[in-house]
Amino acid sequence: MADCVFCKILAGEIPSDKLYEDETILAFRDIQPQAPVHFLVIPKTHIAGASEITEQNSQTVAHIFEVIPRLAAQEGLTDYRIVTNNGEQAGQTVHHLHFHVLGGRTGGALY
Ligand code: 5GP
Ligand code: ZN
Repeated sequence: MADCVFCKILAGEIPSDKLYEDETILAFRDIQPQAPVHFLVIPKTHIAGASEITEQNSQTVAHIFEVIPRLAAQEGLTDYRIVTNNGEQAGQTVHHLHFHVLGGRTGGALY
């Protein structure tokens, strides 16, 4: 997708601080972290958001959820929040499916 920031990151046109990459997904740190640890995990195929998850592409989403615990552990997290915003009214600003992983705050913060 020509105007998609995350497709540009995937194409190497915009640099990113990568945590993990394989054939189908990429994880990188959020440029404006909302918590001590804040990274994003995205499919390499352009899926506009959670409402575009289908039987055809949900294996990649399942894979994202297999990888997240590993990455969280590598980042030293035992407790963390996984968030996805679907639609502008819900706070989605980048229309390429992504899961925020937020952690590292103490004291019961909800991020
Ligand atoms: P949303 O608001 O769509 O749920 O989340 C989009 C996230 O992408 C935001 O937290 C924002 O900081 C992050 N973001 C936007 N542009 C870039 C970028 O160019 N690089 C990185 N690493 N993160 C970005
Ligand atoms: Zn995209």
